[in-house]
Amino acid sequence: MSLLSLFRKKKSTAPDNRAPSYLSGTAKTETGLADTRAAIDELSKAVKDTPEAVEIYLALGNLYRSQGEIERAAQIRNSLIVRPGLAPATKARALYELGRDFSRGGFLDRAVNAFEKAREIEGDSPEILTELAVLAAGSREFEKAASYYSKLEHPVQEAHYLARCAEDEFSYGDGSTAQHILEKALHIYPSSTESWLLILAQLKKAGSLDKFRKKFREALQKVPKHLRFVLVEGLLAESSIFGDTPNSVSASNSEKSHSFYKVMVEEIEASDPDVSMHYYGARLLQLCKKHEEASIWLEKTLMLNQNFWLARLELFNLAQDQQQLTSSFKNQLDFFVNIAHKIKRFTCSSCGFKRDKIFFVCPRCRSWHSITFRKELNQ
Ligand SMILES: [Zn+2]
Repeated sequence: MSLLSLFRKKKSTAPDNRAPSYLSGTAKTETGLADTRAAIDELSKAVKDTPEAVEIYLALGNLYRSQGEIERAAQIRNSLIVRPGLAPATKARALYELGRDFSRGGFLDRAVNAFEKAREIEGDSPEILTELAVLAAGSREFEKAASYYSKLEHPVQEAHYLARCAEDEFSYGDGSTAQHILEKALHIYPSSTESWLLILAQLKKAGSLDKFRKKFREALQKVPKHLRFVLVEGLLAESSIFGDTPNSVSASNSEKSHSFYKVMVEEIEASDPDVSMHYYGARLLQLCKKHEEASIWLEKTLMLNQNFWLARLELFNLAQDQQQLTSSFKNQLDFFVNIAHKIKRFTCSSCGFKRDKIFFVCPRCRSWHSITFRKELNQ
């Protein structure tokens, strides 16, 4: 019997199966839904408990899921799960896919439940633990997320979620617990950019200039070279490091901040800076209103990469003040400079996603620490 005839045959004999509460088929008629459910039931009976047949059946569920038809996908898994005498591995697999269906549909409690049942059979498989970690992180259960990543032996992710726990503790006013968590995070992953950033932000907030200098120097050594700019960018942002609001540099440009910016420039200079760090040194000098020194740093940036568009734009901006321009000419110029400043400065090296705020995990492809500074406009 072909698949198509199975679906056709059940149309006239569909039992009155009511949709469970998680179903969202308002657009579908009840009869249509019952027909499909009946067809899936029939199909599941025809599927023998051989790996090949189960594989095809689960793939059909994945197809439904990819189309957003969560209820049909879930029904396919359930019809397998309830089958008597089903091989445990197959049952675990169906539960895992059921968890992914619910996760995709936004039914997070049900998803966790399905994954936990799969885990009871299968143990701590990397696939199940990863799904549970992502769900815990999504519901802001950072400690739980960190412990799943610990089991997975993924130190980058574990340290990230420990840092997020620490950020929460800081916001509750429990600084000593937060410090303790950050120490743990750096013990697990000494290069954790997020942890260094939180430590530095806290010292800056407390006005501890000497401690800040020492830790900033250490951070420049420990953080991977290609991520050092994230430290400066994050420190320039007054808003939450992990939040979604765009950074506002001007808001943090108070007199008190200047002494910290000067310390940062000195330490950057002593740290064998690359092209991005030269640019950031210039940014900090500009904020301290040291325009001449900033120009020198920008010139150095362009010597290292002549296509570094933002360095060129800042130099152009600085030179503008020294020119006698007609107001009409200046208006036109300001228009273009404003537009250029709105270009998103960061990009994901894995998928090309662009954003104007730092990110630690790419919102599009979920790569970790894949952020790069867009030195060239065609990046
Ligand atoms: Zn990406």
